[in-house]
Amino acid sequence: MSEGQKHLEEPTICLGVSTCLLGERVRYDGGHKRDLFLVNTLGRYVEWVPVCPEFEMGLGVPRESLRLVGDPEAPRLIAPKSGQDHTERMQTWARERLKEVAAIKLHGFVFKKDSPSSGLFRVRVYDQNGMPKRVGTGIFPTRLGIPF
Ligand code: SF4
Repeated sequence: MSEGQKHLEEPTICLGVSTCLLGERVRYDGGHKRDLFLVNTLGRYVEWVPVCPEFEMGLGVPRESLRLVGDPEAPRLIAPKSGQDHTERMQTWARERLKEVAAIKLHGFVFKKDSPSSGLFRVRVYDQNGMPKRVGTGIFPTRLGIPF
């Protein structure tokens, strides 16, 4: 059996991934967070479905950095320099994006750690005094409804 035939018969594993982990320059500062294992090793066996919440919802590159603020159970997504609150905008975008993601039937998702938009565990949530605690989940994974 040729490599091509073998490939055709293998079921495709479809994984969502935070876009910056694939090396796309979508971060707030115009950079990326390419993960060589994901790109060079795992990438040979899976089909990636890249998602960058902040870029796709229209914040552009570069942009002001964001943080989670307030109640860790229901934090706000705030741009601290300008004071802009992007929570509703992000939630509305995520609702629509999740319909597309559900139609693809992903087998899993690789999230960029620490991000207030994409991070899954132990994302910093700031209290009213500006003190962070690593107790949060980014807005997009929260919307995915992943059981923690
Ligand atoms: S929002 Fe997520 S995918 Fe986009 S740059 Fe930040 S961590 Fe990466």
